[in-house]
Parts: sequence; structure tokens; C-alpha cells
Amino acid sequence: MISLRNLRKTYGRGPGAVRALDDVSLEVARGEIFGVVGRSGAGKSTLLRTVNLLERPDSGSVEVDGVEMTTLDQAGLRRARRSVGMVFQHFNLLSNRSVQQNIEFALEAARTPRARRRARATEILELVGLEGRGGSYPAQLSGGQKQRVGIARALAAEPTVLLSDEATSALDPETTESILDLIQSINRELDLTVLLITHEMEVVKRICTSAALLEDGRIVEQGAVTGLISTQ
Ligand code: ADP
Ligand code: ADP
Repeated sequence: MISLRNLRKTYGRGPGAVRALDDVSLEVARGEIFGVVGRSGAGKSTLLRTVNLLERPDSGSVEVDGVEMTTLDQAGLRRARRSVGMVFQHFNLLSNRSVQQNIEFALEAARTPRARRRARATEILELVGLEGRGGSYPAQLSGGQKQRVGIARALAAEPTVLLSDEATSALDPETTESILDLIQSINRELDLTVLLITHEMEVVKRICTSAALLEDGRIVEQGAVTGLISTQ
């Protein structure tokens, strides 16, 4: 479903240049929950952001659902990005818009008709366990509820891939559990492929089927979670 091959990305030039991705290749199969784990600065964010071309690699190939992303023009990229939802560590909700509006806003870009946007927002809020909370504003919600809205927004346009950028890193352990449970249940129910990045091996052990360990821009281990040395 996601195939990254020989990705290289360097920030800056000369002696101060940082090689964020150094010949990174990985394969994520359809329906998997794939974790990329590593310390701060290892290149995880850069890697995740190359999947939907928020970050353009210097070289290498990025294939999502059979589409080579690096050669698309702007219109093609806009279309392809609709099949890739993204959730963030700090939720990135619009604070002056209600929960319902935050989700509908994501669908405006996809040119979904108004009535359909409303129906979809209601349906997706139910899926993430927030039925009836559409009229609330982000400031009225707990961290876990905000992340549920973030997940609902990411899923609104019915993507085939979900990218998660440290989705539970700002949450307490109990809330983390419930959000990981939610990611696992939508993975199963919606046949969604999930690529997540985390600095916590516990997250990988808890929900990932496969994982890669990233160090200084290089993958040092990759495979089924049960077989990884770093998870023993
Ligand atoms: P992680 O998500 O694992 O913390 P990042 O992908 O954010 O790692 O960063 C990898 C390396 O690239 C780090 O050394 C970071 O400082 C550097 N880096 C990331 N983004 C930029 C940028 N826009 N400009 C310069 N350096 C960057
Ligand atoms: P995280 O590690 O959680 O991704 P960071 O604080 O490393 O967060 O990065 C936040 C933003 O700053 C990202 O967009 C990243 O690309 C950018 N960034 C990270 N490191 C650098 C850097 N050394 N120079 C410029 N931008 C950077």
C-alpha cells in the first residue's frame, strides 16, 4: 500500500547540513499498522511527511496505493492527498470553529456537497465516540476528546491511509490506551492502512503489526514486531 524506496533528504548545505533521511526504504502492506520508532531527531517526522509529499525527498520514490507521488503535478497531488489522512501530536484543530465545523472544513477542500458534509461529520463523530459533541468547541474538550476529533477529521474524506504523527505523545497513559484502541478499531473496521511514528516502543508493541527502527536517518531494523530485537 505504501512503498518508500531509497529516500534521501538533506536539510541545508555545506558543513551544517543535516541528513534527515539516508537511503530509507520500507514497505507497508494494506491493512497493516506500521510503526516507525526512534529518538527525537532520528528523521521520523521527515519520513512521515514524505508519504503525502508535505516534504519532498531529494531522491527516491514514494508510492501510495499504486500512485507514484513524486512525479504528480499540483492537481494530481491534491487528488492523491485525499486518500491520505493525517493526525498530529497537538491535534491542530481550529479553535474558533466547532467540532462539527472542524470536520466539515476538511471536506470543503474535497468539494463535498454541504448536506453530505453534514451527514458525514455526524456519522464520523459517532464512529470515534463523540456523538452529540458536534456543537462543542475544542477548548471545551479533554485532550483525548480533541484527538478523537483529530482522528474524525482525518477520516472524514474516507482515506485509505492514515498517517499518525505522535498522536498519543501529548496524552496521559490512560487516554493513550483509549486512543490506541480507537486507532486499532478503525484500522479493522475501515480496512485502513496506518503508518505511525512514535518515540515510544510501548506504542509499537501495543498496536503495530510491523515496525522500523530509525536512527540518524537510517533504518537499522525492520520487520514483524514480534521478531524485532529492539522490542524484546
Ligand atoms: P524526528 O521526527 O525523529 O524528531 P525530524 O524528521 O523532525 O526527526 O528531524 C530529523 C533531523 O532533521 C533533525 O536533525 C532535525 O533538526 C532536522 N530538521 C527537520 N526539519 C528541518 C528543517 N525544516 N530544516 C532544517 N533541519 C530540519
Ligand atoms: P517534532 O520532533 O515533534 O517533529 P520539531 O520541534 O523537531 O518537532 O519540529 C517542528 C517543526 O520544525 C517541523 O516542521 C520541522 O520540520 C521543523 N524543524 C525541526 N528541526 C529544525 C531545524 N533544525 N531547523 C529548521 N526547522 C526545523
